[in-house]
Amino acid sequence: MIRAVMSEVDVVKGLKNVLERIGVASSKRSENLPNITPRLVAVSKTKPVELITAVYNAGQRHFGENYVQELVDKAHNPEVRAKCPDVRWHLIGHLQRNKVNKVVGVPGIHLVESVDSRTLASALDAAWGRRAAGQLRVMVQVNTSGEAEKSGCKREEVTEVVKHVVENCTNLQFVGLMTIGKYGYDPSQGPNPDYVSLLEVRKDVCLSLGVDPSQLELSMGMSDDFEQAVEMGSTNVRIGSAIFGHREKKQKSITEES
Ligand SMILES: *Cc1c(COP(=O)(O)O)cnc(C)c1O
Repeated sequence: MIRAVMSEVDVVKGLKNVLERIGVASSKRSENLPNITPRLVAVSKTKPVELITAVYNAGQRHFGENYVQELVDKAHNPEVRAKCPDVRWHLIGHLQRNKVNKVVGVPGIHLVESVDSRTLASALDAAWGRRAAGQLRVMVQVNTSGEAEKSGCKREEVTEVVKHVVENCTNLQFVGLMTIGKYGYDPSQGPNPDYVSLLEVRKDVCLSLGVDPSQLELSMGMSDDFEQAVEMGSTNVRIGSAIFGHREKKQKSITEES
């Protein structure tokens, strides 16, 4: 069966619904968590520009892409440039060192959530320094589930990577930690172990940097579990299908769009 393509009305409804649910989940957080509303990153991968502009017009500013080339294409798209002047792009997928120049050239690049090694951090630092004034925000991605196919650094490497960014990468601003976690975890089974793990990693990192945990963001939570992630203290949720609907396989959607 072919699924109906989401319309601009549908995605705006999806956005409102997700924002409402984030609000409800925020109000359920324990009192010792900072009282800030988590940032919503609308993950627009495989989705066409018309849907991005529709969600932007409804007030959404932060958008996430996980493939560098798709991010580059969308950020340079003339319609996006004209209609979404204040868009803030997040790169949430794996970044190879030889693609850092493409990323630093993205108009509206706001945050690279997927730094996972010292060499990548250094490459990004150098590229940003050649390109722009000020600092580029980055998160360090942690492979909390330890699955071989997941990117992100190992738990035991995190502090070393973070320290490298903070001490040696003057063009980067370290803002927090990101994890994807195991797919398909059922939140009714209790707190997601990957999110518990990210909270622990943050504690370690904060101890070694001598900063308060409230100073470091946590990017965790996707369509199937963002409410639980928010209740656990997520400050940045990355949500695709709950806003934009089901995704076709990448190759197929490219053909559909062209
Ligand atoms: C695709 C993707 C998401 C969003 O996934 P949904 O389940 O559609 O919300 C979040 N984070 C990353 C890293 C992704 O690649």
